[in-house]
Amino acid sequence: EETGYIVRPATNGKIALSAANAILPDLILLDIKLPDTNGYDICISLKENPLTKDVPIIFLTGRGDNNDIIKGFEIGAADYITKPYDKTILLARVKTHIKLRLQTIKLQKLSEIDELSDLANRRRFDSFLESEWRRCGRENNPISLMMCDIDYFKFYNDTYGHQLGDNVIKRVASVLKRYGARPSDLQARYGGEEFGFIMGNADEEYILSIANDLCKEVEALKITHEKSKVGNFVTISIGVATMFPGKSTDHTKLILEADKMLYKAKDEGRNRAFGVNC
Ligand code: GH3
Ligand code: MG
Ligand code: MG
Repeated sequence: EETGYIVRPATNGKIALSAANAILPDLILLDIKLPDTNGYDICISLKENPLTKDVPIIFLTGRGDNNDIIKGFEIGAADYITKPYDKTILLARVKTHIKLRLQTIKLQKLSEIDELSDLANRRRFDSFLESEWRRCGRENNPISLMMCDIDYFKFYNDTYGHQLGDNVIKRVASVLKRYGARPSDLQARYGGEEFGFIMGNADEEYILSIANDLCKEVEALKITHEKSKVGNFVTISIGVATMFPGKSTDHTKLILEADKMLYKAKDEGRNRAFGVNC
């Protein structure tokens, strides 16, 4: 605390686990002898939990046997310090591990962002869809997916050049970004001039109304597109699919069905959205 860290003491293992889950810490100092259980089991529980698995754990304990230390590292501890300890050395190690943890978080975030659109990239889209699919299945909720595609974009590039084409991708992305602020929502650049919009706990009616709004908003940007066969401006087409994952582990059907609806929107004149409840 003197150094400026916010410290939350936990008096036993059970409290430690619930405290770590309630507010994710940047680092955990863990003893091995605990009133209710032992530090090894707490460490294993924290490492098995997807939420807490990457939080660095430093064992701070009176047990300084080589076997104890090796065991600590084997179950995933970042460091091991024996009592009696030197305060300055402990603080130096805490500082190092927190710095590494924050750097890793920063890199992780960067590796999940598409540079051009500033939306989530394909990698993040895939992992988010997988986890949201499972969560909605567990909670017996629907999940919806929107696939958006810019209309006649090849003609746009051919007419105005790729640089201006890139700007269009950015501006369409910024429209998408204004929607879906819930933790169960994710807007991503799926590839090229296509965007994927995942909405957990969203039914077809809800996502379709947003899809229709998005089409109108992109058209309202009034980005001139002389070669579009829709009209004078850049437009998008959208396909939407809604499913109840239930116990199914395969989310590919959701993407396939949204794609089918996207093709339908293209076929029927573009600048529109179609949805299906599967
Ligand atoms: P449709 O209305 O059927 O979607 O027609 P389209 O021309 O948009 O479809 P198509 O898939 O044939 O073309 C997509 C074009 O998107 C091809 C490519 O030139 C362009 N594109 C893909 N990624 C990028 C990008 O990062 N920047 C730019 N400027 N253009 C891109
Ligand atoms: Mg396309
Ligand atoms: Mg297109």
